[in-house]
Amino acid sequence: MVDSQLTEKLFWKDAYIKEFDATVVSVEGSRMVLDRTAFNPRGGGLVSDLGTVGGQALAEVLKEGDEVIHVFQSQPTSLKGTRVHCLLDWERRYRIMRMHTTAHILSSVVHGETGALITGNQISPDESRIDFDLEQFEKEKMVSYIDSVNEVVRRGVDVRSYFMKRDEAMKMPGLVKLANAAPPTVETLRIVQIGDVDTQADGGVHVKNTSEIGKVVGLRTENKGKKNRRLYFTVG
Ligand SMILES: [Zn+2]
Repeated sequence: MVDSQLTEKLFWKDAYIKEFDATVVSVEGSRMVLDRTAFNPRGGGLVSDLGTVGGQALAEVLKEGDEVIHVFQSQPTSLKGTRVHCLLDWERRYRIMRMHTTAHILSSVVHGETGALITGNQISPDESRIDFDLEQFEKEKMVSYIDSVNEVVRRGVDVRSYFMKRDEAMKMPGLVKLANAAPPTVETLRIVQIGDVDTQADGGVHVKNTSEIGKVVGLRTENKGKKNRRLYFTVG
């Protein structure tokens, strides 16, 4: 049984924690719950963080309700109540952060130009993609959107996150549609704001400043159905 106390989400307080110590709350087969974690679980289109807990490699990190489940490649040897040292695969994680912030900027640019809604996304360390509710997406358009994203990167815009009561967030005109997207049971929303570029209710990890992204490269577009255009990108 999992303790009623939920895992403290260190990745929300500081996305730059590369290692930390934690206490094992429970172990069930290859699954472990910690009292605190900096491993960002799979969700919201982001792939899971990887790394080691007590020297043992993680296969994946999952979210179940508000709980974070660390899944190992084999049965973990650390027992309930023991202290474990945890190490993130930082190279992977930092690319996920840079890709994720890029995805928010790109969504905002394309939405601003076309009004298209985002119907899906997949943020991975090597290559990421966003699906737009669009009938047309020419190659030249992709190039110009990516140019606009790189402008935001060059401007060095600060990214900040904060928590807001749902009813307060609903009063902000720009946030209403986003707040509606979150489950109605959620009382408090985490808001991620990229300066004047984009504000969204979001649970994922981001860089502190857009200058950290480096260079964004548009890879290709794909037609996925009549009104679905998929754009692939990466960061240099
Ligand atoms: Zn996001």
